Amino acid sequence: MLEHAAATHVGLERSHNEDAWRIVPLPAGLGLAVADGMGSHATGEVASQLAIEQVATALAALPPNGSALPHLQQAVDAAHEAIRGAARGGREGMGCTLVVAVLRAGQLEYLNIGDSRAYLLRDGQLRQLTDDDSLVGEMVRHRLITADEAKVHALRSVLTKALGVTDAALATVASLALEPADIVLLCSDGLTGMVTDAAIATTLAAAGSLQEAADQLVVLANEAGGKDNITVVLARQTAADAAAR
Ligand code: MG
Repeated sequence: MLEHAAATHVGLERSHNEDAWRIVPLPAGLGLAVADGMGSHATGEVASQLAIEQVATALAALPPNGSALPHLQQAVDAAHEAIRGAARGGREGMGCTLVVAVLRAGQLEYLNIGDSRAYLLRDGQLRQLTDDDSLVGEMVRHRLITADEAKVHALRSVLTKALGVTDAALATVASLALEPADIVLLCSDGLTGMVTDAAIATTLAAAGSLQEAADQLVVLANEAGGKDNITVVLARQTAADAAAR
């Protein structure tokens, strides 16, 4: 069995919430997605909604067996084209990040483009699964700056890949085997720009329920300034389910 929860908030400085998210129950699993829109005059929310709709359609149509990743990649390509097609008449330049996870049969498959993130909490340890497709993400990987410096860097919002914006919508895909009680977190940068990985780990481990954890993470991001829209999607595999695989 898989539990899930989600929370989203506009934050304290933005007038619109341009993040979008979706949880799609699968016959024997769960699909999760978060997209963070960008663009002028609130067009970012158009882009993130287009991406989430494409992903939700692909998740609902997943064949029962085999990897979800080729189907998700097709959804990414379709979302990329849909956003480009809609980016006219003042909506030029809109785009979005996208992170998607499929949990089923004891496996986690995930896909990422941009700087929204997937994390795994296992045995109290939080592991970032995705690499940010961002300028500061590249700088951290090349050890030019630290992860903490990246959070406050002037160029922190510059993405190296984004749906609808960069020429090739090449997403990064990966998979891993789930263990009992693993928690999967998908989030927008409104969380990770405000809250440390250590605080995220503590909150996930301490909360009484997944929904409490999601709500508390939003509270922490807003207490730290809430400079951006905040979205948190969580899933947890129960022990019985993992043991039965
Ligand atoms: Mg954001």
